[in-house]
Amino acid sequence: MISAAPEKQKKLSSLPSVDELLKSPEGNKWLADFQRTIVGQAPRDIRASKRKDILSGRPCDMARDSLLRDIQSRILKNASFSLQPVINATGIVLHTNLGRSVLSEKVLRNVVAVGRGFSNLEYDLEAGNRGKRHIHTKRLLREITGAEDSFIVNNNAAAVMLCLNAMARDKEVIVSRSELVEIGGSFRVPDVMAASNALLREVGTTNKTHLHDYSNAISENTALLLKVHQSNYRIIGFTEDVSITELVTLGKKHHLPVMYDLGSGCLIDLKAYGIHSEPSVQEIVRSGVDIVTFSGDKLLGGPQGGIIAGRKKYIEKIQMNPLARVLRVDKLTIAAFESVLMEYMDEKKAVEEIPVLKMLLQSPEEIRARAIRLASRLRKALKNEHFDIISDSSRAGGGSLPEVDFPTFTVSIKPSLISVNKLEQRLRNSSPPIITRIKGDALILDARTIREHEIKIIIGALTASLMQV
Ligand SMILES: *Cc1c(COP(=O)(O)O)cnc(C)c1O
Repeated sequence: MISAAPEKQKKLSSLPSVDELLKSPEGNKWLADFQRTIVGQAPRDIRASKRKDILSGRPCDMARDSLLRDIQSRILKNASFSLQPVINATGIVLHTNLGRSVLSEKVLRNVVAVGRGFSNLEYDLEAGNRGKRHIHTKRLLREITGAEDSFIVNNNAAAVMLCLNAMARDKEVIVSRSELVEIGGSFRVPDVMAASNALLREVGTTNKTHLHDYSNAISENTALLLKVHQSNYRIIGFTEDVSITELVTLGKKHHLPVMYDLGSGCLIDLKAYGIHSEPSVQEIVRSGVDIVTFSGDKLLGGPQGGIIAGRKKYIEKIQMNPLARVLRVDKLTIAAFESVLMEYMDEKKAVEEIPVLKMLLQSPEEIRARAIRLASRLRKALKNEHFDIISDSSRAGGGSLPEVDFPTFTVSIKPSLISVNKLEQRLRNSSPPIITRIKGDALILDARTIREHEIKIIIGALTASLMQV
């Protein structure tokens, strides 16, 4: 070890000890306001970082006041939550990195009500004995989707894995090669299949799979015919695939169950809103499929969850599987689901009350009006900067509706004094963080996902970020 030069040594020894810092009037105030462990850690962190600066010869402010300020901000940082709300100005409604679905106040009120005390989660109030947790959502899901029975697990990946394990363990599952997709990095159909101990029997080619490809592959080892929604990708051109109706007919002929991993799982008919690419869950159930699985926090607009809906006889088998217990959802999730599903009893209301649907289906005029409000207030607050309103398009996100362009309006800023990257970084580090995107040399704020009450916060953060050079 190289010993520090004398002037460095001198600087090092002038660093006040942790004890000394905690005994100061400031230290006493921190101890009154924050947990002892957090207060105790901050001076150590700051001491260590100052020590590093001194030893590497970096300039370092050793004044007592500045040291105390550093410690104070470190305490505030250590005492704040890591998971926190952010403002989504990307225009992507189902942003997996930003928590996918936003829940309504009404849904959150139900979560609070159930979480605050005890509940009848697994208690049958009529019989006065043990009940089942999935009954709370079963009636609503039957009303909405038409499926006989249902079961909710941790997420759709879990739903697929559980169904495969329960219905096809050590047996073959026939899937088209065009549907062996990867979704969001960690969900790959062949890997989920392997983890669930089902044997993948792939048929057809990447671009074309015919009904006879499935029927030729059926043997006494076959347990299931599986269709997987391609979600985030499309094969275009010379293509052919087998419809769910044809698969159902084939399954019936061979007494084999048919399952559809729908991914997004939309509970309203999007055709009424000009979107023709996504069949609703109801349509899939009507096709006669035995099991359908879909996410709770994609187009449904609920909490994270995987919904398994279909024939009672298979749902019962699935519930008996040991993985069902491993993958079950908690009471807060069930409370949120029950409340969101209740909105679907009236489709008009669902579109108004469920934030995901509202953000996706709002009219371009509404988005434009919000972009104009944002831009005009920004122009007033920041007279030396230039703001443009630009017509653009946003994507749904989360692998949902990949080929649908949702017309939107953005506010574009080319900062005059700092780089666009610096501005993006400052907004990301403001409180609450504001997540934006960069297009060329402009920062883009997409009005689709910005909520009315966030406009004021965005203006404050942009003002602070652009004033500081
Ligand atoms: C999104 C998706 C999944 C994974 O769902 P999670 O709820 O994110 O676990 C599985 N399959 C398909 C087809 C999907 O689109």
